[in-house]
Amino acid sequence: MIIVMKPQASSEQIEHVAARVQGSGLRPVPVPGEGQTTIAVLGDTRSVVIDRWLAMPGVERIVPIMTRYKLASREVQKQTSCVPLNGDVVGGARIAMMAGPCAVESLEQTMEVARRVKAAGAVALRAGAYKPRTSPYSFQGLEEEGLEILAEVRRVTGLPIVTEVLSEHLVERVAAYADVLQVGARNMQNYMLLRALGEVNKPVVLKRGMSATVEELLLAAEYVMMSGNPNVMLCCRGIRTFEDHMRYTLSLGAVAYIKKVSHLPVIVDPSHAAGERSLVPPLCKAAVACGADGLLVEVHPDPEKALVDGPQALTCEDFDTLMAQLRLVAEAVGRTL
Ligand code: PEP
Ligand code: MN
Repeated sequence: MIIVMKPQASSEQIEHVAARVQGSGLRPVPVPGEGQTTIAVLGDTRSVVIDRWLAMPGVERIVPIMTRYKLASREVQKQTSCVPLNGDVVGGARIAMMAGPCAVESLEQTMEVARRVKAAGAVALRAGAYKPRTSPYSFQGLEEEGLEILAEVRRVTGLPIVTEVLSEHLVERVAAYADVLQVGARNMQNYMLLRALGEVNKPVVLKRGMSATVEELLLAAEYVMMSGNPNVMLCCRGIRTFEDHMRYTLSLGAVAYIKKVSHLPVIVDPSHAAGERSLVPPLCKAAVACGADGLLVEVHPDPEKALVDGPQALTCEDFDTLMAQLRLVAEAVGRTL
């Protein structure tokens, strides 16, 4: 349930209510809103005597949260969350373009893409140092050396870094280099990892598992949020269906639906859904038109030589063209890029 405080409630009254919630063996999470604070109450609230809470000074009303996810729900917070990113935010009027190679392969390759995507208007560099590969014989990423390269590229270009963290044992190490921690589709329900990310003071991109429902995605976000980190971006990257014309099926209906039921920013990764370069630009445009708050796009200076995901990588020139087209779509839906 949520306790909605009166607009004029004092901070002492909010603290008093939170203390009473805590005293009942439940967990209060104050959510400051525009002009009005709500307190999300986590735990089993079946035995709560609502009238007693309603009588506390400063309380306006008490509303049950019908969904299984609580902190991620729009019932708790009406306005879309703004996740901080390098002095800007994801979730505001500007659509955040995060672009870069699938994997860090060398300093030269990563620097070149970073320079090019930055010049075209990207707000962050995406690139994996630790790669979750289907086959253990495939390139696994440069690991710590890759993180060092990413740090150097950020130092030179100023672009914040989005990179994947594969296990809870790597959270501290990756967080020391990354600006945004990515949870890959294969790890969406790795609850130890999600809890560990709740204790980090860095935004998280949480990718939807290829066989996960939207509710499961939101409950995964809930793990990160209830562990203390509110800065979660949800990422739609395609799911498994009977269709085989693309690598995965990109459900843009999920984008519109999540925007309705959750206040978390939603970003779309058309590259992994498509698996093929020519399909990436139309899917990017559709995602922006559909309300996505950001995009995650793979770009490589020489896709033919890419060690991972070459067929879906845009060239730097393709990316320039895409950005020009996307600006028009963004403008048409009242946003910027
Ligand atoms: C990636 O972003 O490079 C990646 C491995 O993505 P996903 O987890 O969506 O497959
Ligand atoms: Mn990839």
